Amino acid sequence: MSRLGEWRRSHYTNNVNENSVGKDITIMGWVHEIRDLGGIIFVIIRDREGKIQVTVPTKHVDPQVLEDIKKLRKESVVAIKGNVQEAGKAINGVEIIPNVVKVFNPASQPLPMDPTDKVKAEIDTRLDSRFIDLRRENITSIFKIKSQLLHSTRVFFEENGFLEINTPKLVASATEGGTELFPITYFEREAFLGQSPQLYKQMMMSAGFDKVYEIAQIFRAEEHDTLRHLNEAISIDMEASFLSDTDVMDILEKLINKVIYDIVDKQQNSLEILDSNLELCGCPFPVVTYDEAVDIINSKGVEMEWGEDLSRAAEKALGEVYDGFYFLTNWPSEIKPFYVMANEKDPTIAHAFDLMYKDLEISSGAMRIHQHDLLKEKIAEKGLNPDSFGGYLKAFDYGMPPHSGWGVGADRLTMVLTGVNNIREAVLFPRDRRRLTP
Ligand code: ATP
Ligand code: MG
Repeated sequence: MSRLGEWRRSHYTNNVNENSVGKDITIMGWVHEIRDLGGIIFVIIRDREGKIQVTVPTKHVDPQVLEDIKKLRKESVVAIKGNVQEAGKAINGVEIIPNVVKVFNPASQPLPMDPTDKVKAEIDTRLDSRFIDLRRENITSIFKIKSQLLHSTRVFFEENGFLEINTPKLVASATEGGTELFPITYFEREAFLGQSPQLYKQMMMSAGFDKVYEIAQIFRAEEHDTLRHLNEAISIDMEASFLSDTDVMDILEKLINKVIYDIVDKQQNSLEILDSNLELCGCPFPVVTYDEAVDIINSKGVEMEWGEDLSRAAEKALGEVYDGFYFLTNWPSEIKPFYVMANEKDPTIAHAFDLMYKDLEISSGAMRIHQHDLLKEKIAEKGLNPDSFGGYLKAFDYGMPPHSGWGVGADRLTMVLTGVNNIREAVLFPRDRRRLTP
């Protein structure tokens, strides 16, 4: 017996249709709209899956029901028991004639923002009242698609023999050096929030786990305010032994195609609500070398020297030429992290790649250095202290297989899959330089 007594939901609103006509059902949700026309009152009830019309012919219902209906306020949480009737003009062609109305919780008025999309609010106002903002079906749709992305990703990895791992997010030193770390107080010492599971997933190769993946938070002290960076993001990371950079590029391409296939297959309703034309191409992603990219970027009037990282303008120039996913390969070793393997014939080039979608970086990956002494040398070359990488380096001295891997920004991929242009839209409670609440 539920603690809600005899109140048990029988249907989500979208499951009430012509097959339900004549049946007594119970729905639970929020009061979306109330239209009192005197002789008849229409109440629209909304739940996660949609909306339904409750119709109250004032002269023909139980007086108690009428009294309860008249007391309803927008966004209150209610349960309604009633009988389903055909109603041509209503949502799904049906309406509910209520027998019992229960208010679980009345909503205070006025509301901090309008959840019905009639009044457009700025993103900051929306984020301040995010719990209400998230009630809007187009916003809910973004997170249904993100949920599908994460689910399909797990299924993909499990089907391909990967083990899911969890690595620590409280760390003693920087992953890659650099300034993007959040220092924290860890008892009497300084520690940091993990900026990437990189070093740990590599150590799992030495542990013999062969193929691993992790879906978890990464923390970056990005100071700039952009539409594609947050200070807390979700990274989908993988690492696999005895595979090269091109092997894990194939895995990434297959994953993206599976995710799109599943979303188009299972999240059609959300795609329609978002007015998205996401389509499965299934075709191989174009592979563009860094050299080719530099030429294209310069030909678009954006100056870029060989050896530089892509500026925002450079990414935009590339995005004008490539209208979907594409790989950028053969990066200069100089601008890649210490653990990236250089090309044997030309060490100025790295076995590293990015996956881009138009002008947005979705993933970075590489074949890694697996030789202890070389790795130690590279750490020093980047101006870092090999001593602070002791625990990591040790794993390379006692049997480390060759390996490769990548990290995908799940929030950025969600932007692509849903068509939103601000990463804040793809995160429930985004963290940026100005925002630490709610
Ligand atoms: P960018 O150059 O766009 O700042 P990056 O090269 O610093 O990204 P990586 O260290 O390669 O990022 O991280 C792997 C992936 O994680 C990126 O391709 C991106 O999708 C995602 N990512 C990295 N930083 C952030 C961030 N601050 N907010 C959201 N996603 C991020
Ligand atoms: Mg990168």
